Amino acid sequence: MAHRTTELIHHAYTPPAGFEAPQPGVFKASTVFFPSVAAMRSREWKDKTAYTYGLHGTPTTYALEERLCTLEGGAQCVLVPSGLAALALVALSLLKSGDEVLIPDNAYGPSKALAEGELRGWGITHQYYDPLDPQDLEAKLSSRTRLVWVEAAGSVTLEFPDVPTLVRLCKRRGVLVALDNTWGAGLAFAPFDLLPDAEPGLGVDISAHALTKYPSGGGDVLMGSVITRDAGLHLRLKLTHMRLGLGIGANDAEAVLRALPSMALRYRAHDVAARALAQWCQSRPEFVQVLHPALSDSPGHTHWKALCENGPGGAAGLFSVVLSARYDQSQVDAFCDALRLFRLGYSWGGPISLVVPYDLASMRSGWPACIQQGTLVRFSVGLEALEDLQADLAQALQVLRG
Ligand SMILES: *Cc1c(COP(=O)(O)O)cnc(C)c1O
Repeated sequence: MAHRTTELIHHAYTPPAGFEAPQPGVFKASTVFFPSVAAMRSREWKDKTAYTYGLHGTPTTYALEERLCTLEGGAQCVLVPSGLAALALVALSLLKSGDEVLIPDNAYGPSKALAEGELRGWGITHQYYDPLDPQDLEAKLSSRTRLVWVEAAGSVTLEFPDVPTLVRLCKRRGVLVALDNTWGAGLAFAPFDLLPDAEPGLGVDISAHALTKYPSGGGDVLMGSVITRDAGLHLRLKLTHMRLGLGIGANDAEAVLRALPSMALRYRAHDVAARALAQWCQSRPEFVQVLHPALSDSPGHTHWKALCENGPGGAAGLFSVVLSARYDQSQVDAFCDALRLFRLGYSWGGPISLVVPYDLASMRSGWPACIQQGTLVRFSVGLEALEDLQADLAQALQVLRG
């Protein structure tokens, strides 16, 4: 027989089939074997009936894709290395030179940066629309519009748009609608079936999701997904995904698979605590406005209520406060620095509460009419005890008052 070194590599043993355990296996591969040249030539990966190369899918990534489709009510899924890569994949798959994309003015910042940087450089134009004004979107739809982004709630300021109206406007014009579904996470509302009783089947064409946030739940994984309910649209995304080589790591896929079963419970816990803290903040004189879509005076609250309160429900774990303009930036910074349980850091969805001060003026086309003048601070509520988080805010407010 062969040399022992060779035998170690081409080992005859295969474990018995039929192993079953709670957690799917972690299959790692670049290379995938074929039993024959004929199989090599004929195998198909695009419909997930077989395996050809690690980049095209493994049992681990197929399993995660299927579970995410179930979560969001979609039919096909593409996994990418970050939430931002999910947004970029949608743009790169669907837009070409001469096309225009419409983006809400409160969109995730790096998504706007992509439009202003790479897309503009490739001759793809963009316009920002007011997320709370469907007429503004309608006026900006043109024969060059190929894609409209929707975000509900919007990043940082959390205005909640009238998603069904925005979707209907785009459908009427035959324009694809993509939702950044990171906030809703497939739990607050059903992106492909927004009004299941009143208007079955009304939904977005594409749901992009930063799995980095609630699906991962640990603040330790970067991943994104792009989910569709149309095989042709999925194929366009899948082919661009392959040509760009946007593979994900098997261990990361396993981490998300492990966290998914507890996601609804975590989302609910983040939501309950964030609502309680947001309400408490409303009673504090230092804050001139508290932004949280479930608060009755928050911008777009009625749209949130119509979509989420009677649907699957929920409102994530984020809220923002506007500190009175009588506090200057250094006082607001000192307030953020004084927080002990709320750590300074980007992203959200993990067990640790986070805080970020934002310079809203630099992020928007103009100061939004629905936001009071002042300095904006965004909180992401983790899974700590509510009383401790409230005490932390209270002691930091004492620092603010000096
Ligand atoms: C975090 C986030 C993203 C990007 O996700 P990353 O995995 O950090 O790249 C995209 N959209 C929204 C709304 C986000 O909050």
